[in-house]
Amino acid sequence: MTIFNLGSINVDHVYQVPRIPALGETLASTDYAQGLGGKGANLSVAAAKAGGRVVHVGAVGEGAERVLAELEGYGVGLEHVARREGPTGHAVITVDAGGENAIVLLPGANMTIAGEEVAAALGAAQAGDIFVTQNETNGQEDAAARASAAGLRVCYCAAPFEAGAVSAMLPHADLLILNAVEAAQLQEATGRAPDALGVADVIVTRGAEGVTWYGPEGAAEFSAPKVTARDTTGAGDTFAGYLLAGLDEGQGMEAAIGLALRAAALKVTRPGAAAGIPLRGEVEASPS
Ligand code: ADP
Repeated sequence: MTIFNLGSINVDHVYQVPRIPALGETLASTDYAQGLGGKGANLSVAAAKAGGRVVHVGAVGEGAERVLAELEGYGVGLEHVARREGPTGHAVITVDAGGENAIVLLPGANMTIAGEEVAAALGAAQAGDIFVTQNETNGQEDAAARASAAGLRVCYCAAPFEAGAVSAMLPHADLLILNAVEAAQLQEATGRAPDALGVADVIVTRGAEGVTWYGPEGAAEFSAPKVTARDTTGAGDTFAGYLLAGLDEGQGMEAAIGLALRAAALKVTRPGAAAGIPLRGEVEASPS
């Protein structure tokens, strides 16, 4: 089966600085690195590294050659990534000596996705395929409604959190994944607990503690493998990508959660976003 991911593709520009610049200050960077980023791209990479067949639906602008090559190298299908004039989505990330950061994000081409482009991508889908999206592109609601009507299982990662956008997506979602902060924000905004949102399956990720799955038979807790965390960037995307790859293979929810917990725990021991996401073989060899 196939996982269709409507999601962002960013270029991350990471500048090492002695400290985060003050208002009006110009500061020289001591190191620079460029890499693939964006929640959408990270999820596609995780699902592809897990062994899933992934079709990424999105858009890039200028300067995206390197990140597209990286995505392709991981085996992510790019035939439905549109090319635009204007900027590719990107993040300017300053990291100080203590590891604290300040980030400016330009959504760029990620916000230019046309309904017909999503329709063309989903034209190749079959009932039982998975559709997933997050909040870093436009067009999620229409796309989710279309995917649902075509018989796909719709998964929604409610990040970055925005109350209006998230509430509007709930009626379309079969599976909702959100972290504990987002779950609290959603409860505040809607007055409803995770098991009262009208979504069949809700998974709340709780960092080092693991996850809670609110499913048809109630709530179940799953603990995360104990590791020494080094870089938690992309942990949630790794969890979601591996979970969906497991479900897409026909695994039940418990088994897929177990696989995803091991993958995300291994990710946090490694630096980097996409590059730090482990391969399936590495996850299978890791302690559970
Ligand atoms: P996000 O990265 O979206 O903020 P979380 O912090 O909840 O979300 O992390 C997502 C998942 O990554 C967790 O449910 C867990 O499986 C894994 N994870 C994150 N931090 C750790 C950690 N310190 N040890 C083990 N697993 C972790």
